[in-house]
Amino acid sequence: MQGVPSFIQDVLHLLYPHLCIGCGSDLLEPQETLCLYCNNELPKTAFASLENNPVEKILLGRLPIEAAHSEYYFSKGQLIQHMIHALKYKGNKAVGQFLGAQIGSTLLQSSRFKHIDLILPLPMFAAKEYKRGYNQATIIAQGIAAQMNKTCQNNLLYRTHATQTQTTKDRSTRWENVRKSFGIKDPHSVKGKNILLVDDVITTGATLEACGQLIADIPQTKLYIVTAAFASH
Ligand SMILES: [Zn+2]
Repeated sequence: MQGVPSFIQDVLHLLYPHLCIGCGSDLLEPQETLCLYCNNELPKTAFASLENNPVEKILLGRLPIEAAHSEYYFSKGQLIQHMIHALKYKGNKAVGQFLGAQIGSTLLQSSRFKHIDLILPLPMFAAKEYKRGYNQATIIAQGIAAQMNKTCQNNLLYRTHATQTQTTKDRSTRWENVRKSFGIKDPHSVKGKNILLVDDVITTGATLEACGQLIADIPQTKLYIVTAAFASH
């Protein structure tokens, strides 16, 4: 609220208090999402600087990657689940910007991610994104890009059709379906670059694998993966 006199800011704050998404306590700065206490309570991983970390183990042998990272451990019923839920279903984009900024500052401190050229969010189906109004992975990716001073492109990758009920299909048919559901508009613009692919949560890694393979198949392209939370068991 630059340029707004401080007494007006004070009145606005009284009328529209800005609350911590974790504990509901009053926040003084409008751009904040969490109070210091809740921020410290979030279960951070140390994956960014750790080779062969749990995210990389999930993707090992499935997808050629340079490095992968998740910022937080996901756990049910905890603040991180509440935050992801608020971002995906409650229209709380500030949470996504917060997560992106946290990831961005972690990656800046890790030598393993210093070559990133371009940041791409994992795409959603157009109809689903239209209904929600935004892609949560895009909000996170933009937060990372702002923090790292890099470019984020949210219209390069796309998702072609809704995944059908796949319970009756065998594993390889299911995989073919997932793989075919991603496309890239201008493969040439990605060639020779270090690409950071972003999603909100990694569980089995199947969607990131399918979308990442599309990028990894482009000559001289290097792939990095990052998610806000790590939910594998
Ligand atoms: Zn709090």
